[in-house]
Amino acid sequence: MQHEPFKLTITRSKRKTLVIYIRDDGVEVRAPLMAPQNWIDEFVELKKPWILKKLKLQQQKNSERLKLEEGETILYCGKLYELKLSQGKNQISLEQDKLYIRSRQLEEGYLKKQFQQWLLQQAKENFEPRVWQIASVMGLDDKVQEVKFRKTKTKWGHCTTKGALQFNPLLMMAPASVRDYLIIHELCHLKYMNHSKSFWQLVEANCPDYQESEQWLKQHGHRVWC
Ligand SMILES: [Zn+2]
Repeated sequence: MQHEPFKLTITRSKRKTLVIYIRDDGVEVRAPLMAPQNWIDEFVELKKPWILKKLKLQQQKNSERLKLEEGETILYCGKLYELKLSQGKNQISLEQDKLYIRSRQLEEGYLKKQFQQWLLQQAKENFEPRVWQIASVMGLDDKVQEVKFRKTKTKWGHCTTKGALQFNPLLMMAPASVRDYLIIHELCHLKYMNHSKSFWQLVEANCPDYQESEQWLKQHGHRVWC
């Protein structure tokens, strides 16, 4: 077997075809139980340009992922701030282009929790009133039952048929226009519980440049995960 510039894991199962997944630590090939090794090797070789492109993109995204370290740049409301850390009573504040985190414990896990708590508090103070404001403009405030914030692994927002809207507090790092779009998106689900053409028409009518926000989330979404 040849040496690949990446870690290759082969998982065999009762399947008929070969498929490649890009993982955090390399590449996984899922293969049928009896697939001969040379078949797998040829497949990987054939897909190599695609694999290398994907791995490079992933590496770049990983390097841009949020790190709470002195001097790192951090997004807040779509603007970049330089992070300044110091020891003391817990407090987070913004001043011009600096984000100050004063913390009892200058340890990454603790800082992340502290920062996430602060984002949640900012969301309650700034994000929630905006949800009610937009709901009222759209004439949907009587349909909204509650607004909640929860950090989930995969979703920016969520809406139930009963009118419970949920948003990811990490969105406080995104520009206000992106939050507005997501609010409108979830509110439109109160009328259409799907992503049909009618749904997107309603989104566009209330948020004409929503595609820019979608684009922002695709390009920068990974920066706000912590
Ligand atoms: Zn949706």
